[in-house]
Amino acid sequence: MRKNIVAGNWKMNLSENDAVELAKEVAEIKVENAEIIIFPPAIFIPTISKLGLKLKIGAQNFYPKDKGAFTGEISITQLKDAGVSYVLVGHSERRTILKEDNEFLKDKVNAALEHDVKVVFCCGEELTIREKGTENEFVKSQLVESVFHLNADQLKNVTIAYEPIWAIGTGLTASKEQAEAMHLFIRETIANHYNQEVANSVSILYGGSCNPSNAKELFACPNVDGGLIGGAALKSADFSSIASSF
Ligand code: PEP
Repeated sequence: MRKNIVAGNWKMNLSENDAVELAKEVAEIKVENAEIIIFPPAIFIPTISKLGLKLKIGAQNFYPKDKGAFTGEISITQLKDAGVSYVLVGHSERRTILKEDNEFLKDKVNAALEHDVKVVFCCGEELTIREKGTENEFVKSQLVESVFHLNADQLKNVTIAYEPIWAIGTGLTASKEQAEAMHLFIRETIANHYNQEVANSVSILYGGSCNPSNAKELFACPNVDGGLIGGAALKSADFSSIASSF
């Protein structure tokens, strides 16, 4: 069956010392029924990795080419050398601020999987789309255009994170009913494209102002398999409380 996962996206925060401290504290969190992943700023990954802590390290970004004239970019192989086993693809901040579109995200998904690095693929609608009531079609098109070209075997290395943009960093959280409805829709969409067995094996995380006071009710939803956590991942006590919410 599918895994529960709690992942912390540290974004462009923390000094090196603070990042090392936080990584050590996160590695102390004792949870038996969930995998914990941290996504630190790339520059701190080698240092954290060399600590040999018991946690998975992911990269927030990479460029989907093996090498070459791509000034300022980092390849998957370089990140893998540094200790990365997961990457985030499709985070809304990269879609909106860095203008990454579904086709480019498809290239990123392919590049990561070709190098045996697991993908946490983010999808989710902005407020205007939810107000129009077209969030299901919107999220489906994100999956179809960047993920559904994969075969069922490749999909085993992909985790989906549903992150409604209106809930990211805003303090607004999707209600448990809204989250469950979208997660169920995503699972049904995967089942229709692949089959029910494949759909049942994919972990679908919720992201968007998840915190210690709402994690329990969100994680209790049958189709919510954990969370991608931003702000609350920067405090080990909060992250620990979220990770213990299953
Ligand atoms: C995120 O950026 O992936 C996220 C979920 O952020 P926050 O928890 O701060 O809303």
